Amino acid sequence: MPDLKTGVVVIGGGSTGAGVLRDLAMRGIEAVLVEKGDLASGTTGRSHGLLHSGGRYCVNDPQAAIECVEEGRILRKIARSTIEDTGGYFVSVTDSDQEWEPRFVEGCRMAGITCERIPVEEARRREPALSTKVRTVFWLPEDGHLDPFFLVQANVESARRRGARVMTYTEVVDFIRQGTRVTGVRVRDSLTGDEQTIGCQAVINATGAWSGMVARLLGVEVKVVPVKGIMVVLSHRLVNTAINRCHKPGDGDIIVPALSVAIVGTTAVRVPHPEVLPIEWGEVKLMLEEGALMVDGVTTARAMRAYAGVRPLYDLGAEAEGREMSRNFAVIDHEERDGVAGVTSIVGGKVTTYRLMAERVVDLVARRLGVSTPSTTGEVPINDREEPLDALVHRLASLGVPKPHGDEPPLQPLLCECELVRPQEVTPWLADPAVRTLEDIRRRTRAGMGPCQAAVCSYRLAARLVTDRQADGQAATRAMADFLETRWRGVRQVFWGSQLRQAQVNLAMQLELYNLDRQLIMDRQPAMEPTAP
Ligand SMILES: Cc1cc2nc3c(=O)[nH]c(=O)nc-3n(C[C@H](O)[C@H](O)[C@H](O)COP(=O)(O)OP(=O)(O)OC[C@H]3O[C@@H](n4cnc5c(N)ncnc54)[C@H](O)[C@@H]3O)c2cc1C
Repeated sequence: MPDLKTGVVVIGGGSTGAGVLRDLAMRGIEAVLVEKGDLASGTTGRSHGLLHSGGRYCVNDPQAAIECVEEGRILRKIARSTIEDTGGYFVSVTDSDQEWEPRFVEGCRMAGITCERIPVEEARRREPALSTKVRTVFWLPEDGHLDPFFLVQANVESARRRGARVMTYTEVVDFIRQGTRVTGVRVRDSLTGDEQTIGCQAVINATGAWSGMVARLLGVEVKVVPVKGIMVVLSHRLVNTAINRCHKPGDGDIIVPALSVAIVGTTAVRVPHPEVLPIEWGEVKLMLEEGALMVDGVTTARAMRAYAGVRPLYDLGAEAEGREMSRNFAVIDHEERDGVAGVTSIVGGKVTTYRLMAERVVDLVARRLGVSTPSTTGEVPINDREEPLDALVHRLASLGVPKPHGDEPPLQPLLCECELVRPQEVTPWLADPAVRTLEDIRRRTRAGMGPCQAAVCSYRLAARLVTDRQADGQAATRAMADFLETRWRGVRQVFWGSQLRQAQVNLAMQLELYNLDRQLIMDRQPAMEPTAP
């Protein structure tokens, strides 16, 4: 007998798995999501955060472009609380960029992407940091910033409200079979090593760049090519519009304003394993130099952090490499293709197209389970509220100004000053068993993601482990050191100038004021490569 029983086990807690869980729950199908780390700790939380209008793919990958246009419009209706409507500029800075323009304009027209050429002076009036090297500007109002952490959380919470379960730090290590049918999975707690089994009628493999490794547990093949991209986080918003280079997609050609920061990226390098994501100094330099062609101040701004993610590009059998490979996705029916019933993989795609990917794979699995309820994820707002949804805004705007004689309670002190996180925003997560580390709280609240990189809030969060979770002093200190170490991993890639000064302030606080052991935070061999901003 399995330890647990459910209808569908979803493997992977990125945007795809979270979207699948919500789609299943909304069709009334019982489901459990298992994720070997935390939610959004894989590629999703390491992406660039661009809600693609489709402009980037309209020439080379028109199908992916069309999916981006359609899904972007749906997400603007259902997931406004995770989207910042920045709009996008596609800018030409060289002769070869300008040669690309006719193909770009035609690609936008064919894919149905709204695109308007505007005078450079007008664009610079709206966006003063636009480089003087910019020769031509196209305005694509449907580019935006999509917060991947809030998106995953919102999907998962919506599914949980409908009875779905989530198990973080739970890795699928084997499949349970009866003949040619999979009837469950064996899972291992990544932190304690404890194992248990979950019986189910179907399994959906939504493990992105890890899909091939999970498929191998079944003895079948899923050809996913892991392609690394690095990004550099600048400590403030240099621009309020997403800036893209108008050319064949290349390195360092997008700058996304993301809440309080700007993110410059990215690269495309094939790697041997989805968790081997080293960041070279040359790559960081390239991002800044390329970014500076589009926006002034990129090389002189404070580079706060660098991080890397790995694209789960599905190998359709073509000879393509990295950037040439399609951003399309595939639903793989292992019963039909490999004779293994009860398992389906969903691979490829983008965060922007996660909802469509989920709908397609759940259509197939629901049919197999005899459920005819159609998907409603394109209509029902992600937070299940009837009233119009708020757009994603930086907290400064949402904190509001206290009324001098009003009835409102006085403002509470902040837990994280950089990201304006209030203590009450952390409280529910401390009561959630899926939250196991301080990094998990960061992903849910943004605490620790700002300019000081958790120098101050790490201490307050550790104290909350003592008050809210009855952790002893040693466990709380260890948790704090673990958190600081994960922040440190991304900081040391950009260790110069004003960042170096900030790092020295942090080090002095951590060693002298908090009395932490240097080896705990800085001299440790990283377990994994840098995480997101
Ligand atoms: C550098 C870069 C920039 C990008 N920028 C953008 C962008 O701006 N906009 C956009 O739309 N898209 C972007 N993308 C693409 C997008 O990030 C990915 O397509 C998307 O996040 C993939 O989501 P996923 O859920 O399929 O995979 P993931 O987010 O990787 O989720 C898979 C999860 O499966 C878990 N897992 C693996 N094995 C197991 C196991 N055995 N048991 C349990 N769990 C397991 C992993 O821990 C992981 O969390 C970018 C990608 C990269 C690399």
